[in-house]
Amino acid sequence: MNAPFGAFEHPVVVAGGQVLTERGLERLDLVVHQGIVVELGASVDHPAGATVLDASGALVGPSFVDLHTHLREPGREQAETIETGTRAAALGGYGAVVAMPNTEPTMDTAAVVHMVLERGRNAPCEVAAAGAITVGRLGAQLAPMAELAALGVELFTDDGTGVQDGGVARRAMDYCRGLGVTYAEHCEDLAIAHGGCVHEGAWSALLGLPGQPAAAEEAMVARDLLLAATTGARLHLLHLSTAGSVELVRQAKARGVAVTAEVAPHHLSLTDASLKGYDPCFKVNPPLRPAEHLEALLDGLNDGTIDAVATDHAPHTPELKDLPFDQAPPGMLGLETAASITYEQLVAGRGATIERFFEVMATQPAKIARLDGTGARPFGHSVHGQRVAVGTTANLVVFDPEVRWTLEVDQLASKATNSPFSGARLVGKVRHCLLRGEPVVTDARSTR
Ligand SMILES: [Zn+2]
Repeated sequence: MNAPFGAFEHPVVVAGGQVLTERGLERLDLVVHQGIVVELGASVDHPAGATVLDASGALVGPSFVDLHTHLREPGREQAETIETGTRAAALGGYGAVVAMPNTEPTMDTAAVVHMVLERGRNAPCEVAAAGAITVGRLGAQLAPMAELAALGVELFTDDGTGVQDGGVARRAMDYCRGLGVTYAEHCEDLAIAHGGCVHEGAWSALLGLPGQPAAAEEAMVARDLLLAATTGARLHLLHLSTAGSVELVRQAKARGVAVTAEVAPHHLSLTDASLKGYDPCFKVNPPLRPAEHLEALLDGLNDGTIDAVATDHAPHTPELKDLPFDQAPPGMLGLETAASITYEQLVAGRGATIERFFEVMATQPAKIARLDGTGARPFGHSVHGQRVAVGTTANLVVFDPEVRWTLEVDQLASKATNSPFSGARLVGKVRHCLLRGEPVVTDARSTR
């Protein structure tokens, strides 16, 4: 077994945890050396000089993979940088994140994508890149997708907006199919959304805020599912937020359409009733919805209709988030709270298995981003999302599902503070995180 690129040299023992292996959860210790799990057993000999990490009372599995992170670099480094964003990611248990392309300049050229990948190379969490579908994300002219794919870009999206023109979407899907990459959509028909900044319903009426109906999302979900079937492209639907979207994906999967979907933790845990104080921290796009949507999303995530949890981590400076509700930009932090929220809603709240928790947080997102060892890896990305076994890359998270903590936003590693969970009592927290065998987080503290 070969050590992965950038592997940590020294031995590490992870002791006393419930480890997710091919057989399920087992009380095992493990030894990691040169970035690889080299021994797994009920008790193991500790190599000389090994760092020993206590995992008692905790779960040990593949570190998480985020399909949807806004690192803000280049262009909006006041809100987040690759350095601060990846530190936040590691603290949240992530071994890899996919950086979204709505940067300034847009990640629509090889030069910008190359720069992001290069700056992420030595981060405490691996950085993969999504490329823009169209030049400047303007929805008209296709970006040089083949050049970006040659850099290892596996996901293409104009996230922030959806591709409004169905003809452009169809052509982009044709290219994606040819290149063997995935077309990822932020589903929002802007004509139907009509400038609405919250969900159109009882709360928008009560608060006097312009709403957008669920149909604004669902119309584009339906269009893209039809186009995916027409073109044969792989389609990934970003941050689904409505019951109707879940149902459309369920039907399309039953017909054999090559579609995957993600949901954000805030859509699994918050409703539009949170808007009653006009706090812009609850403004997000797609917007928070009434409870029946939240229930449908949890059902869809539990039954496999929705494949993955993705944070849509969207840092903003306080200056922007302190604007009045209708003027503040949409977006919430997510990396440092996603595991807690997902565990609480899906496992504790919904009775999903711990295996399912790791599937939606690690295995499925690694597959969708092709960070599971199947994709091109010109930047040396290691293999993610695997259950623990001797010979696997030691990209591991130790997650304590019992610990109770209060989120203090000024304690976050992220540069920004726009979390909707500020001051909330949360259950479950990442204790340790290993990247290619290196303990980048120990006892919930960053070592970098
Ligand atoms: Zn989006």
